[in-house]
Amino acid sequence: MLELTTPVKYVKRVGERVAAALATRGVETVEDLFYHLPFRYEDRLNPQPIASLTPGAMASIIGEVRGSVLLRTRSGPMFEMTLGQGLGTVKCIWFHGSYLKDRFKAGQMVAVYGKLEPSRSAMAAAAIAGQGASAGRFKMIQPQFEILPDRADPDSDATLEIGRIVPVYESLGGTTPWGAKLTSKWMRRVVWSIFEELDSATTPGAPCSTESTMGLPVPETLPPAMLARLGLPSRMAALRAVHFPEAGTPMVDLMSASTPAHRRLIFEELFYLELGLELKRRRMRERAGTAFTTSPAVRQAIKQVLPFHPTAAQKRVLGEIVADMRRPQPMRRLLQGDVGSGKTIVAMQAALVAIENGAQVALMAPTEILATQHYLSARKLLSGAISPSTGQPYKIALLTGSLDDRTKRETQRRIMRGDAQFVIGTHALQEDKADFANLGLVIVDEQHRFGVQQRFKLMRKPGSERSDGGVPGRVSDPDVLSMTATPIPRTLALTLYGDLDVSVIDEMPPGRTPIVTRRTTEEQAAEVWEFLRKQVAQGRQAYLVYPLIEGSKDDQPELDFPHDDPDDSASDSGASAEPGVAAGFSPRQQSHSNLRGFSPGPSATRSGKSTPAKSRKSAKTEKLFTEKPKLRSATEMYDELRTGALKGLRLGLLHGRLSADDKEVTMAQFKRGDIDVLVSTTVIEVGVDVANASVMVIDHAERFGLAQMHQHRGRVGRGAAKSYCILMTGQSGQSGGSVTPQADARLNALVASQNGFELAELDLQQRGPGEFFGTRQTGLPEFRVANLLRDKAVLELAKAEAERFAARPDPALPPAEIDAVWARLKQQWQRRYGLIEA
Ligand code: ADP
Ligand code: MG
Repeated sequence: MLELTTPVKYVKRVGERVAAALATRGVETVEDLFYHLPFRYEDRLNPQPIASLTPGAMASIIGEVRGSVLLRTRSGPMFEMTLGQGLGTVKCIWFHGSYLKDRFKAGQMVAVYGKLEPSRSAMAAAAIAGQGASAGRFKMIQPQFEILPDRADPDSDATLEIGRIVPVYESLGGTTPWGAKLTSKWMRRVVWSIFEELDSATTPGAPCSTESTMGLPVPETLPPAMLARLGLPSRMAALRAVHFPEAGTPMVDLMSASTPAHRRLIFEELFYLELGLELKRRRMRERAGTAFTTSPAVRQAIKQVLPFHPTAAQKRVLGEIVADMRRPQPMRRLLQGDVGSGKTIVAMQAALVAIENGAQVALMAPTEILATQHYLSARKLLSGAISPSTGQPYKIALLTGSLDDRTKRETQRRIMRGDAQFVIGTHALQEDKADFANLGLVIVDEQHRFGVQQRFKLMRKPGSERSDGGVPGRVSDPDVLSMTATPIPRTLALTLYGDLDVSVIDEMPPGRTPIVTRRTTEEQAAEVWEFLRKQVAQGRQAYLVYPLIEGSKDDQPELDFPHDDPDDSASDSGASAEPGVAAGFSPRQQSHSNLRGFSPGPSATRSGKSTPAKSRKSAKTEKLFTEKPKLRSATEMYDELRTGALKGLRLGLLHGRLSADDKEVTMAQFKRGDIDVLVSTTVIEVGVDVANASVMVIDHAERFGLAQMHQHRGRVGRGAAKSYCILMTGQSGQSGGSVTPQADARLNALVASQNGFELAELDLQQRGPGEFFGTRQTGLPEFRVANLLRDKAVLELAKAEAERFAARPDPALPPAEIDAVWARLKQQWQRRYGLIEA
């Protein structure tokens, strides 16, 4: 008898060989096949009349083959098949379609799916006949098609293919033993036969209690009472309805995955995720942490170092954080606040609470530049201050990967002895060598740059011996405060950070003026340089950001945004120059061009149209460099501007491949005002804080992600001076150039809005959850049916139900069913979602 766990090779029409092919796609059991859901449906019960269709939309049409022809064209063979339905026709066109030559026979019924376009010959004919364009003649380029079975043929699966709503599956790849592709049609039959077999195993009328789902081939996974309350179908019914919808199911619901059947499957997946997160959060609350106290001495310590009046929002979140720290359970809190909202001082205050309680504090930053900056500002903030509890100055240490070995070992010893109270560093802090004597608080700045896995690693770090409250000798967990300036859309926050408590700084420090944001193109570069000169003359400083470190041979761009150039697979370079920054380009992207870098001034051109060289270039070269324009890089532009358009200004160069010392020196010079214009890469994206800088120029802005540019923009507007963000695109022209419609939308959104949350939502829509943070290792669970962009409402429901279930299970639920839910969570879901804590 088939069960969900039955290997696919035992399924009718599958067998060993196909099973092997399926295994490479992760499909090993009947359950895996079941969860390969249709990605669209065709209504072949009520096929649409051709005359009712509107061009420009996707359409599925059933018609009969009127004729077909293989044409020779200059660009190769082209196959045309005319599909007819009464007077209406659709011309289906396949380029390089020789393989279709003998596929269609006149009179055959065929279903096609594709984008409907008005046919030129149809329009000409309509014009002659004096009709409108609605003569019911269309064309479809490269449509998907299925030849429908002949109803009269008793061997055909006619009932599966016609006269019903038909599921369409994404191909699983692979072929059958006789070489046929594992098409949608194949999938449909396989799934159908599984249902048939399951049905024959559970004959209606056989003694089978409806309360108990034990022993059913498709066991129920959610308590029936819960399903009833939420109006969701059973698992078996849902699977069946998703694969073979009942006649009459609204097509819009099917296509948007919002039928009750879809919602049930999505709910299940998200419910167990949220339940796992909820459980984790509850478990954390049961663990031993440190109950810090806030004596008058602690308050005094905080007050004496505050450089300004905190905003109301800063006060509120500090209150939330300190309330957590006072509890004997470990804190797990995420502090969100738009860039420039002033998270650092809040973190420093929290650090002082721990330090005054005799504990050590670790502050982790994703880049050396940022770690160093925090170190310097902590030193500045605490210099001269005397700790009320020890009567001594505070002891601060910096630990990064690039320190020389001796310094590193010495610092590690200080950490181990408890001699360093406040340790600031990069991921080097996580290495096991940095054993703390008494770690009480971990602060992770720009936490999203680390990825969730690292977050877990850090949290598991051996904690301190408890010195107060609690069981003596028991190891306690440090408090963890994560901070992020990338506002996290709620759907992601619920899935990625569902186990954390969240605080939000929703107010900017006083005196900020909005940053003027403008778009410009490289043709106007001369004006941009002129503007920079004026600002510098007024005593201001500027950032100039490029996507690449070096020139065309550079395969390690410091860009964490896989750009949306359709003909470039952005994923084939895993190189990255900064921790947490995934490279977004393929090396071949830059290798085509032989154009030299950018020369500023009105004569600069990239298209080649006005250069005399054009006529001498072969058409092929022309094509190559118009397709793949060269990108300007920080190093090249630094050299070029220094002696060119920005001659006379003091320029500095900063990127991830410089040594830590060089980076530090350059940053310090910029902070002091010894550098006017800092030419840089995305290393300055996070955290960097220089109040006098008032201009941010992002070159090749079309290549950057939305959240990323918002972060960059946040580097300016930190002082009282009016600030500017200039988004310069590589090529003017909205299409055909390097500015895709998506990039265009991003740039316009930035000009229109300075609200990080708004921009983050748009970014999520554009990039999808997996790419939102720009790194792939965000620890986002792999969903089988859920889609975070689509299923927001179900996610909220799942979260609420998970909280409710964990807090006080419904009295209507039998205890055995409650236990079953917990057991299921443990067995199956925790592993899948990576929720297991070793
Ligand atoms: P972020 O939240 O992006 O990390 P920072 O902590 O770097 O922001 O703060 C941005 C700037 O605002 C810093 O220069 C900081 O000194 C300043 N700042 C923070 N809070 C206040 C405040 N309450 N009043 C005035 N300036 C503030
Ligand atoms: Mg910061």
